[in-house]
Amino acid sequence: RQKGDDFDHTIRILLLGDSGVGKTSLMTRFSEDKFAPTLISTAGVDYKVQTLDINGKRVRCQIWDTAGQERFHVITRTYYRGAHGIALAYDVTDDDSFKNVNYWMANIQTHAEPGHRMQKMILGNKVDIEDRAISTKDGQDVAKEFGVRFFEVSAKNGYGVSDAFYSLAVDIVAAN
Ligand code: GDP
Ligand code: MG
Repeated sequence: RQKGDDFDHTIRILLLGDSGVGKTSLMTRFSEDKFAPTLISTAGVDYKVQTLDINGKRVRCQIWDTAGQERFHVITRTYYRGAHGIALAYDVTDDDSFKNVNYWMANIQTHAEPGHRMQKMILGNKVDIEDRAISTKDGQDVAKEFGVRFFEVSAKNGYGVSDAFYSLAVDIVAAN
């Protein structure tokens, strides 16, 4: 085994949320620290990896992408299998994507493995855009309702992205 293959934890984080909210862009920003504005909507990439140091432990974060199925709302049990955490994203300029946070929370409830504790967070993405539909307060309120963490982020300029995933990873490591 190579030295670089040794990890204290490997954690699996799923991206969820409406098509177009920026899930693939958030995965790319977190794992490669870049933004590709002309992503093909079904990139077909299952997951990307980023290694974090959490309290001196090497944590390998796999960030899983829905790769387009979310458009037809056919996220199934298979996608949730073995997941430790969920990053549920909406677009702060798109009211429908925000309303659908409730839909996705219910989907998690229906399909996630029973008895399997998952850490969740809600991400309000695209805060680089000034013309918003959803205020910070709206986002905070819905996160409070579900009892999960909330971050405003921008996959485009990177604002808040690593802080958000880092904090979810800390919660996951603490819970496992
Ligand atoms: P997905 O369908 O949820 O995977 O969303 P994508 O990552 O494919 O992004 C959908 C569109 O929103 C693309 O045109 C992205 O370039 C754009 N986008 C994603 N994140 C941001 C962001 O933080 N700010 C801005 N301005 N555009 C973004
Ligand atoms: Mg995508």
